[in-house]
Amino acid sequence: MLERVLIANRGEIALRILRACKELGIETIAVHSTADRELKHVRLADQAVCIGPAPSTLSYLNIPAIISAAELTNADAIHPGYGFLSENADFADQVENSGFTFIGPRGETIRLMGDKVSAKQAMKKTGVPTVPGTEGAIPEDPDEVLRVARDIGYPVIVKAAAGGGGRGMRVVHNEEVLLSSIAVTQSEAQAAFGSPVVYIEKYLQRPRHVEVQIIADGQGNAVHLGDRDCSLQRRHQKVIEEAPAPGIDDKERNDIGEACVRACIEMGYRGAGTFEFLYEDGGFYFIEMNTRVQVEHCVTEMITGIDIVREQLLIASGEKLSFTQADIQLRGHSIECRLNAEDPRTFMPSPGRINTFHAPGGNGVRVDSHVYSGYTVPPHYDSMIGKLITHADTREAALAKMAQALDELVVEGIRTNAALHRELVVDPSFVVGGVSIHYLESKLEHER
Ligand code: ADP
Repeated sequence: MLERVLIANRGEIALRILRACKELGIETIAVHSTADRELKHVRLADQAVCIGPAPSTLSYLNIPAIISAAELTNADAIHPGYGFLSENADFADQVENSGFTFIGPRGETIRLMGDKVSAKQAMKKTGVPTVPGTEGAIPEDPDEVLRVARDIGYPVIVKAAAGGGGRGMRVVHNEEVLLSSIAVTQSEAQAAFGSPVVYIEKYLQRPRHVEVQIIADGQGNAVHLGDRDCSLQRRHQKVIEEAPAPGIDDKERNDIGEACVRACIEMGYRGAGTFEFLYEDGGFYFIEMNTRVQVEHCVTEMITGIDIVREQLLIASGEKLSFTQADIQLRGHSIECRLNAEDPRTFMPSPGRINTFHAPGGNGVRVDSHVYSGYTVPPHYDSMIGKLITHADTREAALAKMAQALDELVVEGIRTNAALHRELVVDPSFVVGGVSIHYLESKLEHER
């Protein structure tokens, strides 16, 4: 079993990892920037090391500083959380080359999944359904490009192989602008990601975002933990997530889950991971794999009873999965609202001192948050200050619980998006279930 884990992250996920470590009797090392001395997990950790100034490039993204902190504190493993260095293959390699365990997949797996073209090819090979499109990067010959796009059928989307965070993509509605759009995307991709490689796929017009959580031990065993629907998004950022995805029957869920499990076994995947799909007219289309724990992992934990971060730690300790697919039962429904320090109308970040924080509670209510009364939200990082999660027998009951939880929540001193969530949990279309990824933005546009 791991003895001492360095947590290379901040905020709620750092606290989430610390809790899982402590429950397993693992010592914890917090690393933090000068702006983050007051973080809850820094106070609760066995040791804390300041790794640099506030800007994340100088602290949470500073690989030498993090590895030095691990050496200094005699850590045996590093948990990257999500964001920051969690999907940086070079970081994973450097951690392992320095003699520490990286809590996640091998660097080469992260690299394979980090390039959208190679990820898509790997999926195709293992039988995971992908969006119809070019086999790899687009052909050299412009006539050939035009022919390929005609075969796919307009609208198409031009995507950068190295793209991420919803950037490096362009929707093309007709042939006249295809070649010029490709040229623009290529030069943008070169500037933003250091690679001009782009590919083309069918642009799905009203898809949902449905993803599959998997866990694999890297020793030949893998299971899926069902799906999540994360279609409520603004600017490609998820706002509310839920599990299971509404309206998807057990057979569909098991079929896609099994395809993901097969892919994991074939790749020799190790750790927790998520296969993200667009879902339209009964079809799943792979878009990317996240090789880390996700913000929304909690809704899956609620309906499966599996502690995903604990499993990450056990796998990194070299243990085999202690359960099989047959042991995984989905029970009830879970909803998660991401609470952000931002104006609910303009979405401008609202950092500052939280004078009063009162978390909701009760049966089936979970609050994963690092904030407390008197905590100051720094302006340097992501604005998420926590997550409200509810669990009940039915979706309707989980939504009712969320409405009540939001009514109980008190955050004074800064603005939050709680009012938006309160509106969404009773929004008639969302309540029915199954809205597309464009629903939230078009609702906001019409109402504001
Ligand atoms: P990133 O790594 O930048 O998040 P993704 O490939 O996951 O890129 O795509 C981000 C978002 O772009 C998706 O969630 C979806 O909203 C949209 N998108 C990507 N590919 C398609 C497609 N083929 N059709 C429709 N929308 C797409």
